[in-house]
Amino acid sequence: MKTNQSKKLYKKGLKHLVGAVNSPVRAFSSVGGNPIFMESAHKSRIQDVDHNTYVDYVLSYGPMILGHGNKKVIKAVKTAVDKGFSFGASTAGEIELAKIVCDAFPEMDKVRFVNSGTEAVLSAIRLARAFTEKDEIIKFSGCYHGHSDALLVAAGSGLATLSMPGSKGVPKDAVKNTLIAKYNDLESVAQHLEESDNVAAIIIEPVAGNMGTVVPSKAFIKGLNKLARKYQVLIIADEVMAGFRSHFGGAYELLGLHADIICLGKVIGGGMPVGAYGAREEIMQMVAPLGGMYQAGTLSGNPIAMAAGIATLSELKKANPYEGFNETAAQIENMLLKAAKKHHVKVTVNRFGSMINAFFTEQTVVDFETAQSSNVKEFATFFWELLRQGVSIPPAQFEAWFLSTTLTKKDLKQTALAIDKAMEKVSEMKNN
Ligand SMILES: *Cc1c(COP(=O)(O)O)cnc(C)c1O
Repeated sequence: MKTNQSKKLYKKGLKHLVGAVNSPVRAFSSVGGNPIFMESAHKSRIQDVDHNTYVDYVLSYGPMILGHGNKKVIKAVKTAVDKGFSFGASTAGEIELAKIVCDAFPEMDKVRFVNSGTEAVLSAIRLARAFTEKDEIIKFSGCYHGHSDALLVAAGSGLATLSMPGSKGVPKDAVKNTLIAKYNDLESVAQHLEESDNVAAIIIEPVAGNMGTVVPSKAFIKGLNKLARKYQVLIIADEVMAGFRSHFGGAYELLGLHADIICLGKVIGGGMPVGAYGAREEIMQMVAPLGGMYQAGTLSGNPIAMAAGIATLSELKKANPYEGFNETAAQIENMLLKAAKKHHVKVTVNRFGSMINAFFTEQTVVDFETAQSSNVKEFATFFWELLRQGVSIPPAQFEAWFLSTTLTKKDLKQTALAIDKAMEKVSEMKNN
């Protein structure tokens, strides 16, 4: 595998970009080695600057659910570009995307578009506080909700693999209203609610993806519903990653969670910067200009981004790929377990809809603690061998891998071979 051009660009990038990246996980810190620079992508495959091609399971960390370069999406974006980039005024596209999104989420009467998942979540929290007139929020360790101050505690993936407990530059006061609970552990939530009558909301990734894929138990979800009702706190479902990945709507719905406010991002922009938060009428009434909770954005609802979102969700709805996603994810799970067994490597595979990943541990992974029992050195070896075999997954143990509608039988065959070779490498590493 040639990496000359990537190496060159990395060196060049270090001069004026921080770590040569604009988002830390891209720096490959947790797997070591030189980050790969990408150049183009088509359907299920992505090509780097040295012209290596990979079956892409990163998919821009989720957004490219239709694969790369979907013709309908490209056409919609080109049409929008020709009309103008941004107007600072309302456009019809915003109304169209809002209808598609609200129709997909029964709990959502109204929605507000923003530019990223981070913005969606920080606004949702402001909204929960405005609505309940309370200050505290309960968040789960290992869940990531973007990089706003109040949520940079015990926040999974990027932070988890860098072993940072939080982040420098976040004042203590900014996180003093953030209470931490354990995923899949109802008692840890109940305790906070017993002790405080100032809790506005519980925020959760209904299927966690930012500590690797972690699925909640039925009892946990049922219990959360009960606690929220009993203590009159809102539930914020952060569906930025999981939204539209297990069915045409939120994972929370499949799981039976009663969500009050829903946050979206990633898929709804189809690769353009779009986030959103929405809720029932009575809650959304709080948001300016209808109510007193201020939240704004110069580029929010950008017409080109809206066009990409509308085309992506329309195509996705038509394709209805979810049964296929389940089957493909099951197939990949089998590949991983079979290869692990053959080469005597211990792995646990978690999956939900089109999110899946392998943890290099024999423990059942149900929360951040059990996820962290993974052997990240084995993961790094696995990751690099997969790349050499033409398969790209996120460069960190604590990230989900994503499926797109464009995966072919040939891709899966290559994936199976690559997984087998990569597990072999892991076992060689262990024996040395
Ligand atoms: C990615 C993600 C975010 C942050 O979204 P950005 O667009 O990166 O700001 C928030 N919550 C969850 C669950 C995510 O996966």
